[in-house]
Amino acid sequence: MCRGSDFAAKTELTHGGRGRIQVNEYMQSVDYQNVFAVGDNAFYEEPDGKGGKKPMPQIVEAALQTAETAVHNILASIDKRDKKPFKSNYHGFMVSIGGRYAVANIGGRSLDGFFAIALKHLVNIHYQYGVGGFARIWDYALHEFVYVKEGRSILGGHLSARTPILWLAVLRVYLGVIWLIEGVKKVREGWLDPGKILLR
Ligand SMILES: Cc1cc2nc3c(=O)[nH]c(=O)nc-3n(C[C@H](O)[C@H](O)[C@H](O)COP(=O)(O)OP(=O)(O)OC[C@H]3O[C@@H](n4cnc5c(N)ncnc54)[C@H](O)[C@@H]3O)c2cc1C
Repeated sequence: MCRGSDFAAKTELTHGGRGRIQVNEYMQSVDYQNVFAVGDNAFYEEPDGKGGKKPMPQIVEAALQTAETAVHNILASIDKRDKKPFKSNYHGFMVSIGGRYAVANIGGRSLDGFFAIALKHLVNIHYQYGVGGFARIWDYALHEFVYVKEGRSILGGHLSARTPILWLAVLRVYLGVIWLIEGVKKVREGWLDPGKILLR
């Protein structure tokens, strides 16, 4: 379970649960207007639109969005402009278990198995690109698909050899496609027709 940092927990500011600093809708500490907290260090209960409140989850999207709100409002305070309140916009939730299993709820739709784990990698690649461009994506791909032991990658062990034989993966796909094309052709020619099987 996520919690605020030790630093945030030790400050003498008002805290919500788990060492997080209580903030208002502008991400300001409720004690000092010139102190802002974001992400895992912030505790904020957002109006749920039905008269109640929902606590902000400790997830990456909340960290990014609260940071955007805080940056905007710090500049607005300096420039004496209107501050904007935090408004969450979460795309969904995802839980991965090891390298090959995951469940996700994206925009109200549930996903599991291969599609959930593939989506996890897409999300990670998106963030890796934002941090370090293609170099980070390349490192990520090597880490997640090539240097993974015992077939624990989403692609099994097909890319996990450290010797330069990655082209074998292409060959395997080629063989699989040819096998499929030939199989479909033979089924169409009647290979599964019991009357013809004995004639061959
Ligand atoms: C195991 C695990 C799995 C998770 N899985 C997901 C997931 O699948 N999806 C999702 O959305 N979220 C997930 N989360 C939550 C997500 O990682 C956090 O909500 C998010 O990283 C919060 O961002 P942040 O910038 O607030 O804090 P962090 O990402 O923790 O960054 C804070 C940084 O500040 C540094 N720091 C701390 N104290 C000091 C100090 N005194 N001085 C200087 N630097 C300091 C830390 O070292 C760290 O680098 C997961 C968290 C964990 C622990």
